[in-house]
Amino acid sequence: MTGENRQAIVRVEHLSKHFGAGSARVDALIDINMDVYPGQVIGLMGPSGSGKTTLLNCIACILEPSSGRLMLDSEAVYDDRWLKADLRRLRLDKIGFIFQYPNLLPFLDGSDNVAVVLHLAGFGAAAARDRAIGLLDYLEVGHRKHAMPSQLSGGEAQRVAIARALANRPRIILADEPTAPLDSQRARIVMDLLRRIAIDQNAAIIVVTHDEMILDRFDHIFRLRDGRLETATGDISRSPVGAA
Ligand code: ADP
Ligand code: MG
Repeated sequence: MTGENRQAIVRVEHLSKHFGAGSARVDALIDINMDVYPGQVIGLMGPSGSGKTTLLNCIACILEPSSGRLMLDSEAVYDDRWLKADLRRLRLDKIGFIFQYPNLLPFLDGSDNVAVVLHLAGFGAAAARDRAIGLLDYLEVGHRKHAMPSQLSGGEAQRVAIARALANRPRIILADEPTAPLDSQRARIVMDLLRRIAIDQNAAIIVVTHDEMILDRFDHIFRLRDGRLETATGDISRSPVGAA
């Protein structure tokens, strides 16, 4: 196992999240505990409605938990309430988010879709452009830097979106079903890229997936069911005890 002697970069302690109240209450996450270490690529699996997106959004500081604790990069950011006044800044500094669909801005070409994040982070125009093109090269879509999103294939667009998520060198990368719209070969290419990023940037990557075909690409699999974490082991190769 990798990383257990290092400090977790994502630490989730007794985290719960419910929506609504009274008879309309939904307990989307119940007492979740998880640690993710630098260099790890973690899978988050579970049936539809089990809480995967809710957990990812809480870790991304997009959604406020109901209770528990969240530490990012050794810093407590939530402890029964947000501890940081500027969550937007925190996200910009620490977190890259990759969505199921690339969500590129349709009126900007590939390089500008990446550079826009760098502008937000305070880069000047030339530096943003250079870094954007460098990232597209790293993701092997540099030759598509002038293409508009409508001209990109699904795999190319997803790699531009990954470049955008990486723009600010986040140590924590969260991806919600990033390979769902891709065929299995392209899904593997994207997973291999994420693996390289985890190593090169010493980043922690959490990937929500339904895709049994890419299970071998993860260091650990966390499985959610009805808002609870079922397993927290890296041993995904064995059937449950007693299974045929
Ligand atoms: P998954 O991503 O695993 O499919 P979600 O995290 O989206 O699951 O949802 C977990 C549970 O929380 C589901 O029962 C869902 O209906 C509920 N839920 C998610 N978001 C909201 C919301 N904004 N308001 C009310 N219920 C929600
Ligand atoms: Mg979801």
